[in-house]
Amino acid sequence: MAVLSVKNDRFLEDNTTMKIAIFWHRRDIRLTDNAGLYHALRSGLPVLPLFIFDADILGKLQDRADARVTFIHDEVTALNAQLKTLGSGLLLRHGRPLEVFQTLLGEYDIAAVYTNRDYEPTAIARDAAIATLLGGKGIPLHTYKDQVIFEGDEVLKDDGKPYTVFTPYSKKWRAKLESGRTAGGESYFFKPYPTEKYFAHLLPTAPVPLLSLQDIGFQRSKIAIPGKAVASGIIRAYDQTRDFPALHGTSRLGIHFRFGTISIREKAQKANALNQTYLNELIWRDFYAQILQHFPHVASGPFKPQYGHIQWRNNEQEFAAWCAGRTGYPIVDAGMRELNATGFMHNRVRMIVASFLAKHLLIDWSWGEAYFAEKLLDFDLASNNGGWQWAAGCGTDAAPYFRIFSPDAQQARFDGKLAYTRHWVPELGTAAYPKPIVDHKLARERCLAVYKAGLGNAAQE
Ligand code: FAD
Repeated sequence: MAVLSVKNDRFLEDNTTMKIAIFWHRRDIRLTDNAGLYHALRSGLPVLPLFIFDADILGKLQDRADARVTFIHDEVTALNAQLKTLGSGLLLRHGRPLEVFQTLLGEYDIAAVYTNRDYEPTAIARDAAIATLLGGKGIPLHTYKDQVIFEGDEVLKDDGKPYTVFTPYSKKWRAKLESGRTAGGESYFFKPYPTEKYFAHLLPTAPVPLLSLQDIGFQRSKIAIPGKAVASGIIRAYDQTRDFPALHGTSRLGIHFRFGTISIREKAQKANALNQTYLNELIWRDFYAQILQHFPHVASGPFKPQYGHIQWRNNEQEFAAWCAGRTGYPIVDAGMRELNATGFMHNRVRMIVASFLAKHLLIDWSWGEAYFAEKLLDFDLASNNGGWQWAAGCGTDAAPYFRIFSPDAQQARFDGKLAYTRHWVPELGTAAYPKPIVDHKLARERCLAVYKAGLGNAAQE
């Protein structure tokens, strides 16, 4: 049999060293249709799949039973089981990625590292540091597009500048998709990467138990995670049902898109066949990813800098009432309670609660952004930031600041029969339900005055 030996006793008998490639899974916890893994497997080197529980990220989480950590742990365990059936296994490490790679360099004879690109500013900095470390040893870090259909530089205005408004961006996105149409009628850009053809190139390993949740300092969450199988009826009817939170009218695939437990190419292809409104939402996802890529300052402040002059009230008691779902505005409270209990909130309700926080309460939208980041199963920096900046009026393509959602009008329009609201706010209509913490009319006028003053001050600078 072939001698497979790496400088690690986990692998087969012989002591001679063998050059390997590492494939580093991050936001792509799957084996099928995985761009970076495909290229690694085709490199001719035996491929060792790696996942790192990033201590920098885990260390910032407040909740030791964070549902996303349980989800990731379950998914990497399933990935390992799949790899086992292929005679291989997952290398699971816990630590700071740069230090993990420093250790791996002493343990394996690494010829190349493959991974899929991540566009968040901290991920870009992390990957640059690792590329430098590996480069110093003559080891290339190969990176690929996998988590979006089009990256930032693939859909640009005719003058080469990035789009900041969604509608023209989406038109160009669709034209680019069309430009890839093949004779078979499908777009080249949806083509899956057939990793399965090359699974024989995975590094054979002896079975090794994975790190447990406790090993990485976490406990199992009780929150149920939506599955990855979505009835095509939901996607077909999406344009009719998506705005009504009482219906199960959206896919709830957010967490799976976030961690790449499903392929964006496969889902976008289905969307293109079944429902253009659904495809449009996936285009929003690419849109916000490219905004973060081109304008990384949005991660720490408003896209439009003049909005940095708004004098937020930042009342901590009101913020606590908003977080707990006790503002006295039923649809706002229902949304926040849904978020706290399940890690999910319907998109329509996300818009309502975000607008309420920024405009009615005049609390810095970044407080709400941070709260969502802590709670949302599908938390994604680019989309969350984009959604918050949109709601606060300071983002790309944002709702103008003087358009202020009336929570009651939104309620009447999208949950008129109160089916969603009553589910989350059962004490509605009783003395136990709080009185509104702010009067809508007063809040509206106050918001207009404060935004106007802030933007006026910015104009005078
Ligand atoms: P569906 O309606 O079934 O849509 C399918 C997929 O399309 C989603 O899973 C998501 O990947 C993408 N998508 C849909 N709408 C948007 C959108 N407006 N922007 C970008 N992508 C979209 N989405 C996140 O993925 N992560 C976030 O952290 C996030 N934070 C948000 C914060 C605010 C304040 C707002 C207003 C929106 C936010 N969104 C976020 C967008 C949207 O609310 C969620 O993607 C959607 O509700 C997730 O539910 P779903 O999976 O059933 O989506």
